[in-house]
Amino acid sequence: MRFTELELDESLQKGVNALGYENPTPIQTQAIPPAMAGRDIVGCAQTGTGKTAAFVLPALEHLLRNPTKNQNPRVLILTPTRELCIQVAEETRKLANHTSLRIVSVYGGAKMQQQIDHLRRGADIVVATPGRLMDHMRRHNVRLSDVQILVLDEADPMLDRGFLPDIEHIVYQTPRQRQTMLFSATMPPQISALARQFQRD
Ligand code: AMP
Repeated sequence: MRFTELELDESLQKGVNALGYENPTPIQTQAIPPAMAGRDIVGCAQTGTGKTAAFVLPALEHLLRNPTKNQNPRVLILTPTRELCIQVAEETRKLANHTSLRIVSVYGGAKMQQQIDHLRRGADIVVATPGRLMDHMRRHNVRLSDVQILVLDEADPMLDRGFLPDIEHIVYQTPRQRQTMLFSATMPPQISALARQFQRD
C-alpha cells in the first residue's frame, strides 16, 4: 500500500512527504483505514513500528474534516512517560506542520505556567502524561468534555506504573460517544480488560 491510497488531506500528505515516509508500515496499513472510519482500535505494536503515525494521522484527518471554533481539545493522547509525551507531540507537530491545528503537550517535571498559557490559548490536540493532566484538570486549566478521539499510547507501562485510577478518572471526564484507540506492545488479559472497559466498537 502507498500513502496516497489512504486519501489523506493534502496538508497531511505534505507532512508525510516532509518526514520522508514513502509507504505505510504494517501497523499503519492495518490501523489507519478503520481509524479514519471512526472505529475503535486496539493496536499491538512496539516503539519503532510507526505506531505514532498510525493514530496521529487519523486523528489529524478527523480534525481537518470537522473544523470548529471550539477552543477545548478534541483529541487527547495519553502517554506513560514524559519522554514519550515529548516524542509523540513532536511527531504530531511535524505531521501537522502544513495545517493550523494546535498541539499542546503537558507532562510532569516542567513548569506549570507555560503549559497553562498554551492550554488557555486553545488546543486541538493535547498530548499528556496522566499525573500532570490530572493537576491541570483540578485547576480547571483544561476541559475534556469535547474530546472526540482518545488515544492510550503504550498502555502496558501505563498499567505497570499504577496509573489505572488516574486513567479511569481522566477517561470518564470525556464523552462516552468518543472514538478510543489503545496501543500496547503486549496484550495480557489486563489490556484486553482495559479495551473492554473503555471501548464500544
Ligand atoms: P514509532 O514506532 O511511532 O515510534 O516510529 C518509529 C520511527 O519510524 C520514527 O522515527 C518515525 O518517524 C518513523 N516512521 C513512522 N512511520 C514511518 C513510515 N511509514 N516510513 C518510514 N518511517 C516511518
